[in-house]
Amino acid sequence: DFIKILRRFVPPYKRQLIISIISNLLHAIFSGVQMLFMIPILEVLFDTANEITSLMPWEFSKDVLQNNLYYYVTAVKHEYGVVVVMPFIGLLMLLTTFLKVGFAYFASHQMVGIRNNVVKDIRTQIFAKLMALPLAFYSEEKKGDVIARATGDVTEVENSIMSSIDMMFKNPIIILVSVGFMLAMSYQLTIFVFIMLPIAGWIIGKTGKSLKHKSRKSQNLMGSILGVIEESVGGLRIIKAFNAENRMAKRFEKEAEDYRLIMNKVRRRYVLAHPMSEFLGTIVIVVLVWFGAYLITGDNPTLTGAIFLAYIGIFYQIINPAKQFSTGFFNIQKGLAAMERIDKILLADNKILEQDGAIRVNSFEKCIEYKNVTFGYNEKKVLKNVSMTIEKGKMVALVGQSGSGKTTFVDLLPRFHDIQEGSILVDGKDIRDIKVHDLRGLMGNVNQEAILFNDTFYNNIAFGVGNATPEEVENAAKVANAHEFIMATEDGYQSKVGDRGGKLSGGQRQRISIARAILKNPDILILDEATSALDTESEKLVQEALENLMSSRTSIVIAHRLSTVRNADVICVFNEGEIVEQGTHDELIKNGGTYSKLHELQVR
Ligand code: ADP
Ligand code: MG
Repeated sequence: DFIKILRRFVPPYKRQLIISIISNLLHAIFSGVQMLFMIPILEVLFDTANEITSLMPWEFSKDVLQNNLYYYVTAVKHEYGVVVVMPFIGLLMLLTTFLKVGFAYFASHQMVGIRNNVVKDIRTQIFAKLMALPLAFYSEEKKGDVIARATGDVTEVENSIMSSIDMMFKNPIIILVSVGFMLAMSYQLTIFVFIMLPIAGWIIGKTGKSLKHKSRKSQNLMGSILGVIEESVGGLRIIKAFNAENRMAKRFEKEAEDYRLIMNKVRRRYVLAHPMSEFLGTIVIVVLVWFGAYLITGDNPTLTGAIFLAYIGIFYQIINPAKQFSTGFFNIQKGLAAMERIDKILLADNKILEQDGAIRVNSFEKCIEYKNVTFGYNEKKVLKNVSMTIEKGKMVALVGQSGSGKTTFVDLLPRFHDIQEGSILVDGKDIRDIKVHDLRGLMGNVNQEAILFNDTFYNNIAFGVGNATPEEVENAAKVANAHEFIMATEDGYQSKVGDRGGKLSGGQRQRISIARAILKNPDILILDEATSALDTESEKLVQEALENLMSSRTSIVIAHRLSTVRNADVICVFNEGEIVEQGTHDELIKNGGTYSKLHELQVR
């Protein structure tokens, strides 16, 4: 449960925690001392200093107060009056207050450090894991939900860690020290307090029980809300084009309404903690005052009014820490729910991971072989018993209807997904035995949608290579037909491309992603409909760039327009997850099968 969460995230900051605990201890001590100084002030004001002799149970203070402090204070008071005597005691109070708040500040100062470090650690861990997880993880997760976990849920965990540290290391110290002072002043009253407080605490604890469940639900809904915003802002062009603004707004309102309803329940429970503990606290005080009055004025008095007032002062100091147990309890419930959601990411299985001793590979020598490969994203098979050999230096084209499994086929090679039956070999080695990093290092991808980051041209092109020189980047851009339009922008290679490359045309984006692949200089090139989204004008430029890229390389090209793969060494025709035809353009035309029919349609 919660202790485990603390063990996971707090240990690196043990030193700060210990400093903070010690500061809290000193803070608590000076809080008590400060209240003790109230006693002489009150005694002098009420002129009851002499009564105290027989009553004060604390030998040391009795001695100090009665024989020294009181003696002088009373003498000065009688000589010069109250107004003169007060500043002396006042100064002492100021000093202790200074120490008290100073240590409190120092303790909080340390806690702020711990808090922000823990938040950063959790976020960094989540992000690293998000990067490491296989693509399959995301086909079942909503983007917004993932974002919600890295933001809102982390905040919940942060709050609960802080509350629990307060509950374990701060509040008990303050309470224990204060109770020590209270015992010294009147053990009867203190015993009485000890009976009352746990009862109040138990009542408060009871009301927090169902909060964890509700909290989890509310965070899930927050995920949906973020999902709708993400998706809608991303798809704003389409939404406007289809006049769907109102529909999207309605859809959003429904999510927001669900969230409102559940948050009503969560927050109302949460705010109940305060009035409840306030009310219970007041009950304790009322009874305490009644009991105190009895101890002061009863047949056998054991208390003076001044001590009693100071006692109440110290008692007040434990009310806040005690109250925090109730809100702390609520926070912890919320934090547990949030941690559960975060752990769905942190503890998710990175299924695609190499075994120890995976083979290192740094070049591609002979061939890629798909042997009886069967794969499905779920029960439905998307590839059925597919076999194919791709020789080094050859260009293989995949054609066929959309949905026939071409993209899936090429995604298996870099192990974006793992196959269920059969095997894929690179130079005779099963790709599952090769170091994933090395395997992916052999390949370069250009897809239908160029994926650019909101960064400079330079960094987008140099993306796949750690240490590219400006000349290399520029050369790659030249080969990719991108140099000219890059130079035409205001800052050249240092211009930003906008969110997802939004400041560029489709053809320009595509040429940047080709430049990126050129710079990486991969042995194996995978082009997935790299030109299908372009108009004929920019297609020509991109096609030219692609041919520069493909020359003397092994390439797998998925093509929508058959004209672009006419020269391929092998053309494979996909249909419903199977390769139904294979051969050169001329062979396939002569066969008069599926390919020749597709060709007919496109030429006409
Ligand atoms: P192609 O590239 O030939 O158009 P795909 O390989 O993209 O075909 O898709 C083949 C089939 O797999 C389609 O029926 C598609 O619906 C399904 N599919 C593709 N990606 C996923 C995914 N991430 N999860 C589930 N099904 C998918
Ligand atoms: Mg596809």
